[in-house]
Amino acid sequence: MIPKLKPWLALDIDDTLAATFCCRAKKMQKLFGNPEWLKVEDLLKKYHNTYDVPYRQTPEAEARTRHMVNDNEWQKSISMCAWASTYVKKVNKIIPITAYITVRPSKVMQWTKYRLKKFGFPDVPIIHKPDAVSKMDGVTTWKMALLNKLYPNILGIVDDNIRTIGKWNIEYPWTVFLYGHSDTSSLSANILPCETRKDVYLAVKKVFGKKK
Ligand SMILES: [Mg+2]
Repeated sequence: MIPKLKPWLALDIDDTLAATFCCRAKKMQKLFGNPEWLKVEDLLKKYHNTYDVPYRQTPEAEARTRHMVNDNEWQKSISMCAWASTYVKKVNKIIPITAYITVRPSKVMQWTKYRLKKFGFPDVPIIHKPDAVSKMDGVTTWKMALLNKLYPNILGIVDDNIRTIGKWNIEYPWTVFLYGHSDTSSLSANILPCETRKDVYLAVKKVFGKKK
């Protein structure tokens, strides 16, 4: 007999729980200017990912991004969205959060763990991107393979990265709660748009909440 597994949920960290894009963009605007005269919040809405901001693709800007990603001091300065923990707690009551899945490298795990705990996020393991996986090309395949391996123990993930998830064009059984996006009509039916954190909570409730 197949044992009945308890369903679990995973959470992404950057730009789902932490204001990574905005903190990085502020620094980049100071260093390299702001050609579009956009506030970092509007830049986030327009591009979603540092790697998609066209004028941040120069060797100097890319080197600076790499340095920030790998620097513990920098990671320490990224604001965690304290109010996100309110919704994470609510979600945790519907379906237990069992892990974080992040593209952050191994060398910044110590501070990542410390910051999550400090801001009241669940104390659960962090699965980080193996350092051998390249940031640009390997993440899509790595995350997909990992979720495949973890299914059916992990039935879903809250993640903002449309750049990665939008490329998953094969069938898969878990649900993606795509934070920060309002339209997923061109993507797999398993990807649910969740513009706000409240939308994440409501969508998780709809999928995993007790059916009356
Ligand atoms: Mg993210």
